Amino acid sequence: MQKKRIALIAHDRKKDDMVELASVHADLLRQCILVATGTTGKRLSEEVGLIVERKLSGPYGGDLQIGAELAEGKIDAVIFLRDPMTPQPHEPDINALVRACDVHDIPCATNVNTATLLLQQLVHHHHNHHS
Ligand code: PGA
Repeated sequence: MQKKRIALIAHDRKKDDMVELASVHADLLRQCILVATGTTGKRLSEEVGLIVERKLSGPYGGDLQIGAELAEGKIDAVIFLRDPMTPQPHEPDINALVRACDVHDIPCATNVNTATLLLQQLVHHHHNHHS
């Protein structure tokens, strides 16, 4: 089976949650190709030990880089832990990425609970393919 390519993005107040989520699902994530915005990717590699392709930091265009890859059909799922309580300077970029997911019908989890469901489904598919 072709490896899934998953994008991981977390706003600052959601980065601990992302690290926790990725730790819980590390075995699965190791089977995938991971792309992340700069700081999120740094934390995932340093604290969870995942191999991550790092884009620019979100406010410097990382979301747009991931959005561009997604538009080209290179991203299979997005986990985007947005902070709903803090205004972000790159809100247009955030909206562009979420919109791109909807345009191309790519699963996009914006909170931990949905991300867990998405990852469980990926595990499920993975096992079915190998049994
Ligand atoms: P970061 O980008 O992972 O580089 O922090 C995400 C964001 O905060 O938009």
